[in-house]
Formats: sequence, structure tokens, C-alpha cells
Amino acid sequence: MTVTETPVRPYQHYVYAYPHKTAYRKLPGSPRLADLWAGESRAALSLYAHIPFCEVRCGFCNLFTRIGAPDGLTGRYLDALERQAIAVREALGDTAPVRFANAAFGGGTPTYLEAAELERLCDIAERHMGADLRAIPLSVEASPATATADRLAVLAERGTTRLSLGVQSFVEAEARAAVRPQRRADVETALSRVRDTGIPVLNIDLIYGIDGQTAASWRLSLDAALAWRPEEIYLYPLYVRPLTGLGRHLDPEVADRDWDEARLRRYREGRDHLLAHGYEQVSMRMFRRADAPPQGPDDYTCQTDGMIGLGCGARSYTSKVHYSFDYAVDMREIRAIIDDYAATEDFSRASVGRAVDEGEARRRHLLQSLLQAEGLPVADYRRRFGAEPYEDFPAELETLASRGWLADTGTELLRLTPEGLAHSDAIGPEFFSPGVRAAMADYELR
Ligand code: SF4
Repeated sequence: MTVTETPVRPYQHYVYAYPHKTAYRKLPGSPRLADLWAGESRAALSLYAHIPFCEVRCGFCNLFTRIGAPDGLTGRYLDALERQAIAVREALGDTAPVRFANAAFGGGTPTYLEAAELERLCDIAERHMGADLRAIPLSVEASPATATADRLAVLAERGTTRLSLGVQSFVEAEARAAVRPQRRADVETALSRVRDTGIPVLNIDLIYGIDGQTAASWRLSLDAALAWRPEEIYLYPLYVRPLTGLGRHLDPEVADRDWDEARLRRYREGRDHLLAHGYEQVSMRMFRRADAPPQGPDDYTCQTDGMIGLGCGARSYTSKVHYSFDYAVDMREIRAIIDDYAATEDFSRASVGRAVDEGEARRRHLLQSLLQAEGLPVADYRRRFGAEPYEDFPAELETLASRGWLADTGTELLRLTPEGLAHSDAIGPEFFSPGVRAAMADYELR
């Protein structure tokens, strides 16, 4: 096995979903949801509700969210979300039992909603969608400022099993540099409130690659997080993306190879530090405390099972079509899309999305497994597709092997080496199909 001479850019694309939303287009004829879901299994669905509001817009963030919610917008948004839930549930029909295997509230910042609004969100999930929130894993994202005692109490009481706090850095100067100003004392207080609720899994998000961050300051954040013994820690590389707060002031020199190297150094330091403190690596970003209690029943398989997304930044997945609403990064565009969503009465059709044919399903399956530390059991792939990954993706897998990124695990398991995992954001794009690649390149970011 030889390692190639040309260094590969390690931070190209975070593949948290394939195909990416920028490959979505208007769906011809706006198909009825009832038709999209006809014949699909409803035995282990995932429910995701997207709340697109935040107190600030962090400089690195390109998620679908806006600052604040004037004039009762959260109420109108929840009204629309309720209408959507009713329409989706109706489309799923009653010919086969509908069962949700897990649920998540993300954003944005779901805890931007007040306590009573969070109650309402849970009611919508339970009464209109039929998700039994207290019986399934329920994950909720929060920011330190909005993780107030009353909101957390509602979430704990309604069955939240995982609370993810977006800390990013415990160093105040770094938080400012990432355009996410916050005081360390407020972060610590929020963490203490989360622990007081008894929600079983605490996740802390941290970011590396922030301007001014050093090995020492990175270690300080890691240790401050470890002091809480969180069940999970996510380490995110900082990306400077177009149209975001940091992207607007992009210094072309910033995105150069020195910065790649600096981020890779921080990544390795962070990974090694967490591994030395009793954490296991689940993926490039995710680390789980080895002695953390299991999260309860979770029989959802992200490679195959369907997803129902509620809210205008949420995607939904059937086995053949992924769909969502319009997408933007620019603040003005996002505000207009949210206003449109809040005014929508008819949610019975899908307007934006992408068909996922068998070839794309193979790519998606491979990516979702290979980018996990435990890798892809080849037998799973064979069972699902009646094919071999080595035959479907010979060039891509050969490239990974030649870079020393594929572990020597025999023919029945495809697993990345530690350096392969470190380069997950370079590996993902290698497997994008020409069609998805072209659609993403054509997408006009707004
Ligand atoms: S990173 Fe999180 S809190 Fe910051 S703007 Fe994005 S969604 Fe909101």
C-alpha cells in the first residue's frame, strides 16, 4: 500500500446527508405525499422537527435559521408545523401501522421556543404524528443562553433522552472570534442546569480551527468539557462558508493549506485527548464515553428507514425520494422562506427534492456506514443490494486504499484507518455521483 505524494485537502464537505440539499430541485408536478409514501415501510420511522430560530447567527453557521422571531412568528410557525403534521399523518394513512423509532428537535435552536411552545411542539409530535416521545430516544439541541430551567424541565418531562449543547469553545475570545459571543460562566451554569434535569445523555459540541486557538486553549476547552463527563462530545472542524458571517469577511489566505494543517493538528490532539479519557470514537466528529449507559431502544437504521421532517428546514426521506422545502443561507432569503412556510395552508405535496435511485441508494448506504468508525459490514451491503461494494466502487475504494485510508480488515469489513477517519470530509465527496456533483455545482447559493 503506497501513500500518494499529493496532499488531499482534508476539509472539503461534511457529508451528514447524501444527496446534499444543494442537489435538490423543484420536483416535477409537486407529487402528493400520499403517493410518495405509498408502499413505504412505516415500521421504524424517524421524526425530525426543525426550529429555525436563534438568538444570534454564529459566524460559521450555514444552517437554515434566522435571528429572532418578531411579531409572534414562533406561534405562527408552530401553527404551520401543526398543519404540516396533520397533512403528513393523513398522507401516511392507516393501511399499515405507523411507528416512530426515534425523534429529534433540531435547528436553529429548538430551545429558542419558550417552555409553553416546547410543550406544544411535543403535543404536535405525539397527538398529530403519533410519536410516543416518552418511549423512544428523543434528542434536542440547545444553546447555553436558551437552556433555561423551565424549558429543560419541559423537555425532561416529555421524554428527552439526549440534550446537545452547542458550546463551541469555553474560551471567551474564541467564542467572539467565531461570532458567537458568550461568557464562560453562563456556559457552565447552563451545563449545570442540564445535569440537574437528569436527562440521561449530555452532548457537548466543540469547534477547532478558530482564529487564535492554540494547542493550549484547545486543551482548555476539551478539559472544561470533560469536567462534565458528558456522555457524548462532538468535535467539529471550523468551516468558513460562503454567505455566512465569517465567509463575508473571508480572507483568501485563511482557507489555505496552513489552516488545513492547523485543523488536522487540533483534530488529532482532540481525538487523542478524548481517547485517553475513556471515550470511544464513533465517527470523525463523534465521541462517546465508553461507560455511558445505552440510550434505550433504537431500532432505526439510518441507511434504510424513512424519515419524516417537519418544519421548513427539515428533510424527509422515502426509499425513492428525498424532499424538503426551499433552501438558502443568506439571511434575507431565509426570512422569506420561513414567512412563506408560516403562511402555507396546503402541505399535502412535496415541492423540492431529489429522486434517489438504486445507484444513489448504494452510494448513500456506503457513505453512511464507511464514515462511521465501525465501518461497513460487506454482508449488509450484499444483502440489501445483491452486489459487492468492491465491484460497485472499485476506483473510489482503490483511491482510499492507495492513500492508506482503508484498514486491512479482510474482505468482509470496509473500515477506515484513523487517518482515513481524519479525512472523512475528503472521502465523502469521492463517492458523490456525477449527477449529484453536477447539481451541487450548478446550485446558485443564495
Ligand atoms: S450554530 Fe447553532 S446556534 Fe449558531 S446560528 Fe447556527 S443553528 Fe444557531
